[in-house]
Amino acid sequence: MSCDLSQKIDGLRKKMGSRLCILGHHYQTDAVIRHCDFTGDSLELSRKVPTVDAEILVFCGVFFMGESAALLTRPDQKVYIPAEHAECMMALMAGAYEVERVVRTVNTTRRVIPLAYVNTQAGVKSCVGAYNGAVCTSANADIMLDWAMREGDAVLFLPDRHLACNTAKRLGLTEKDWQILHLSQEALSDPALQEKRLLIWPGCCPVHAQLRQEQIEAFRKKVPDASVYVHPECPPEVVSASDGAGSTSFLIAKAKEAEKTGQKLGIGTESNLVARLHKSNASVQGLLPMYCPDMNAVTEERLLTLLQAIDANKAKALSLSEKERKSAKEAITRMLTVCDTIR
Ligand code: SF4
Repeated sequence: MSCDLSQKIDGLRKKMGSRLCILGHHYQTDAVIRHCDFTGDSLELSRKVPTVDAEILVFCGVFFMGESAALLTRPDQKVYIPAEHAECMMALMAGAYEVERVVRTVNTTRRVIPLAYVNTQAGVKSCVGAYNGAVCTSANADIMLDWAMREGDAVLFLPDRHLACNTAKRLGLTEKDWQILHLSQEALSDPALQEKRLLIWPGCCPVHAQLRQEQIEAFRKKVPDASVYVHPECPPEVVSASDGAGSTSFLIAKAKEAEKTGQKLGIGTESNLVARLHKSNASVQGLLPMYCPDMNAVTEERLLTLLQAIDANKAKALSLSEKERKSAKEAITRMLTVCDTIR
């Protein structure tokens, strides 16, 4: 963390006052997090956006997070992100054009509800909304998958195959119920797919997918009295070898609980968050260094450059076409409504 950069950012935040709100995802570095008015996971930050008074929203996270925020803003608000090139590797595994083709194909003979993880581009959310589907996050994937299964004859879950399988298992589905898709037109037309209640896009998060069952076993040998919790973007065998899996907020709650009970913890998720948890409770350890290059593309330098550009009226806000915005917002609103109904 540079004092000079920090001071300059503090100065601009002071100058912009209540017109500015900086939101930061838990996977951001400490150097960035210290400048954020709100931190949270995707769901918490999505809920926060419409409640914020500020007209300038700076979203410290990857591109799809800024887009999701832009979908929920009031007309007087604008969203900016410090690193426009920071895409999520998982989101890039499901392009809008291809998703549209697959959704159209699987919907020809029965009603398949598309359920898109929030880690998708706005064009994908828009397609999902247009086909009466919804968005989900890792915090509410089980609620939303259960909803989608009841809405249609089957569900297409995208793009994270690990989150899909882990969530389906939690709901009592077995491998017989689902199919991880091959995306060729020929494979999608296979009559055997008609038997499946859950069609799964073959994507994953390369950061969480690298954690292996053997690494959990090795950690348990090293710290036999520790509990192990991982993010559900990790492979199913890793989740099975753990004591539990959940969103970043769930993992933070587990670390806070451990602070009170003295329980030792091994956590499997992005390393910036794990390092922060370790700082406030030394008995929390990471299972493996897991850095997301996209999340780390947001730096203090880039945050300062963006704030300077905003101050000089030279920054470009995220913009979405009206058509894209309408259907994508429907998909997000459906998620918020379903979750509010059962809270
Ligand atoms: S950690 Fe994985 S899912 Fe999250 S932004 Fe990085 S690549 Fe995407």
